[in-house]
Amino acid sequence: MAETISNRKMTEREIVSFFDDAVNYGYIYNVYQPKINHVTGRMIGAEALMRMKHPLYGLQMPSDFIPIFEKNDLVFSADLTVCENVCKFLRKCLDVGVPVVPISVNMSRYDVYNHDYVEQVESIRNEYDIPVEYLHIEITETSAIGGMELMTDVIDKFHELGYKVEMDDFGSGYSSLNILKDLNVDIIKLDMNFLSGDIGGRGGAIISSIVQMTKWLNTPVVAEGVETNEQADYMKSIGCNYIQGYLYAQPMEEEDFVEKLKILDHEPVNKSMDLIFSIESGRFWDPTSVETLLFNHMVGPACIFTYKDGKCEFVKVNEKYLKEIGMNLTAKEMLNMDLMDSLDDDGKKILTGALKSAIDSGNEVSCEVWRRVCSKICGEEKVLIRSSIRMIGRADDMYLLYALVQNITADMRKYQELYESEKKFRIASEQNNTYAWEYEISTHIMRPCFRCMRDLGLPAVIENYPDPVFESGLFPADYKDLYYDWMDQLAKGVKSLEAVIPLTADRIPFIVRYTNEFDENGRPLKAYGSATQLIDDMADK
Ligand code: C2E
Ligand code: CA
Ligand code: CA
Repeated sequence: MAETISNRKMTEREIVSFFDDAVNYGYIYNVYQPKINHVTGRMIGAEALMRMKHPLYGLQMPSDFIPIFEKNDLVFSADLTVCENVCKFLRKCLDVGVPVVPISVNMSRYDVYNHDYVEQVESIRNEYDIPVEYLHIEITETSAIGGMELMTDVIDKFHELGYKVEMDDFGSGYSSLNILKDLNVDIIKLDMNFLSGDIGGRGGAIISSIVQMTKWLNTPVVAEGVETNEQADYMKSIGCNYIQGYLYAQPMEEEDFVEKLKILDHEPVNKSMDLIFSIESGRFWDPTSVETLLFNHMVGPACIFTYKDGKCEFVKVNEKYLKEIGMNLTAKEMLNMDLMDSLDDDGKKILTGALKSAIDSGNEVSCEVWRRVCSKICGEEKVLIRSSIRMIGRADDMYLLYALVQNITADMRKYQELYESEKKFRIASEQNNTYAWEYEISTHIMRPCFRCMRDLGLPAVIENYPDPVFESGLFPADYKDLYYDWMDQLAKGVKSLEAVIPLTADRIPFIVRYTNEFDENGRPLKAYGSATQLIDDMADK
């Protein structure tokens, strides 16, 4: 049931003189607020919040008395009272078989300055014999004011004992993403109040990027202070399903909370990102880690991006990726782009299909799409990108993918130019089933005709000719000697060559011819090759 408002705020003097009685006679007590998975409706935990009720002055709220406790060095004792109440409560539930969830208690920063907070909490937990997974500790970043070291120390101590530590009020003044990397917390509580109703604007963008990063760090996020469905849906849309707030439940007294425990299903908090490859996710953000080194230097042009609800957002791109796409883009400009937005409808269909198949199969899937890329320096340009995509992680309905890319715009432009310029030749060659190419004798570069590119999948330029056509099986290996001998003869100045060679995997017999072209000094320059299918009818059957 909702709480009543205090009848009258107590003064500092009244609070201080009331304190001992309040602790000893239960005027300081706990209320509990559930943490819920917005998608499943199940309870994932609860927070214990301190209340103080004076027999005459009525209910007092923490914002009024906690600062006074802190000022008068009473908060340590009060916090341990809350902790003991939690343990007593959990013991009762466990004894009568009421299923329980982890309950978090708030640690004041004053608790660690002069006190053995960790040891005291541990001794209370032991006294009531509560399994450590049911007691969480909430700390705030303001505790770091006493020094990061003190804070990491407390977290480490709790971790050694097996406690989960939650970072409270994340998103308030001090918070920075750096703190997340440095502090090894298990759960992050993101306060919606810092959004201040501004979901569509800057606040939304900040929240969304925080959630994005926490996924990557593999730290689950609980959104706090969620009052409206709009806020809850927004959080869900960016991949944060855990919610604590008036929308689901006000903080409630023990009797009401027990009922909630009985009627609501429970579930554990899940790691947010299930990485498929075996890498500690935090290392991905560490610029000096082996993983980062590999990503930046040992692989080709590559990017890592997330896919969720039809949207793709970049997480990481390497230098080679920026170079490959061209356009003088900075990593920051690239990270701000939405991959899907840069595609036309056909491209979207192709990429979506490839992503789905990479996700379903777990295998590498390739696709080619035209991307509209815009940069300050080069303006807008369309580039054709071939990507080999593989899924590397998943979290609920969000996927993490890795793509190796190749910019094949130049190849395609060549292909299109050839298509235009070779029109007559192409029609003629199609009429008599001829494939043609030119071979530059000094450089060993071969340039195929449009038909070769289209029918045989050859690139616009082949270097080291003829090695690649033997490797691909277009020319059968048993003709290697003959063919290399021809290359020799062409270099030595033979005028023309001709033989029947069975081509392609299907071994279709073609008449292959070469005609040499010479410079003014009679030295061989270029050879024109052609392959004409021997028996036309064979193809028709
Ligand atoms: P907190 O730890 O951030 O606790 C959450 C506060 O947000 C609670 O206020 C809770 O009642 C309130 N809240 C929950 N849902 C909503 C919502 O949808 N909208 C809004 N506007 N508020 C919501 P509460 O209980 O008044 O506590 C205020 C603060 O007092 C706490 O903030 C915490 O910093 C401190 N506090 C409470 N209990 C303890 C305690 O046992 N020990 C210490 N050291 N501090 C405590
Ligand atoms: Ca809290
Ligand atoms: Ca909070």
